[in-house]
Amino acid sequence: MKRHALLFLGLAALAAVPALVRSQGAAYPITVIPTGKGPYTFPQGYQTPWDKIEIMVTEKMSPNLFVLHGSQGLDPAHPDASGGRAMALFGSDGVLMVDTENRQTAEQTLKAIRSFTSAPIRILVNTHIHPDHTGANAFFAKQGAIIFSQEDLQSEMLRPPARGNGQPAPAPDMAGIPVGIYKYNPAAPGQPAVTFTMNGETVDFIPMMPSHTAGDTIVRFRKANAIYIEDFYRNFGYPFADQANGGSIKGMLDASDLIAKLAGPDTTLIPGHGTLIKKNDLLPYRAMLVDILAKVKTLRDQGTSLKDVLAANLTAPYDKATQGDTQQSKDRFITEVYDEVKDFPPIVDGKRTMPRHP
Ligand SMILES: [Zn+2]
Repeated sequence: MKRHALLFLGLAALAAVPALVRSQGAAYPITVIPTGKGPYTFPQGYQTPWDKIEIMVTEKMSPNLFVLHGSQGLDPAHPDASGGRAMALFGSDGVLMVDTENRQTAEQTLKAIRSFTSAPIRILVNTHIHPDHTGANAFFAKQGAIIFSQEDLQSEMLRPPARGNGQPAPAPDMAGIPVGIYKYNPAAPGQPAVTFTMNGETVDFIPMMPSHTAGDTIVRFRKANAIYIEDFYRNFGYPFADQANGGSIKGMLDASDLIAKLAGPDTTLIPGHGTLIKKNDLLPYRAMLVDILAKVKTLRDQGTSLKDVLAANLTAPYDKATQGDTQQSKDRFITEVYDEVKDFPPIVDGKRTMPRHP
């Protein structure tokens, strides 16, 4: 009887531990809505029904730091969750936003923010230029946000690319152009360019080396122990360096190494897409980049054509572990590596003139 009683006490003590930890606030991050896993298919000619897409609180990093993301299965560009993650730090000092989601879902994004705070929207930082991250810039500037970004992102935005059909480039929407501008300093990687102290949190805007684009910024929330790492890492589909906008696969390696220095073992890393990770999850990703760079370089040095390098199916060992694996995603990745290992064009005003492949 005595032994049983002791055993029972022991179990009760064990059970009490998680409750105690929870009461101390260690239960964050909280996943409210997990990202979709797929597989997803869309019929030919499918058009994204933007009005059906909901922007929701999908993760909570602290009591006043929430992550927003869109519905799954509706947006073929991002079927696991429409748009690119946005974040909102809120409280009596107003709202600080990281990225905006797409232009078409601006109202839904604001509605999601208004579901948890009525504070004025004051600050917006853009992690990179892609429309699923900056599309609603002008909308949120009209709500009162002052927009921050790297100078290269501002340059990219001031010079929109020509339309594919030979039409001239559309004029940039000046209301959405960032005005709080800073640069990446290669002599001090990881150094915050801007720091805000508000709503009980300290937030660092840390400019990155050219990696996903030439104008990347990661955003560190010191108290919540979380870093928004945007899109140089992804775990839905293969890596994407937007080289035309100054991105670089080798820069993605440097970005991974910098995160390894900036993050602690328990720091939550928040990619623009896919699932939340810790810094150890970057290791297999980094190893894949190194492996594919070496293999493609060897083939290209031997004079192998892009077509034959694609046919070599170098990503095969990674397909099983890569969620959202599609032919398009792996071909894009291999083509980027092929273009980077020889005669890689330099960045001019945030852009590279990349070769065209028929
Ligand atoms: Zn992106």
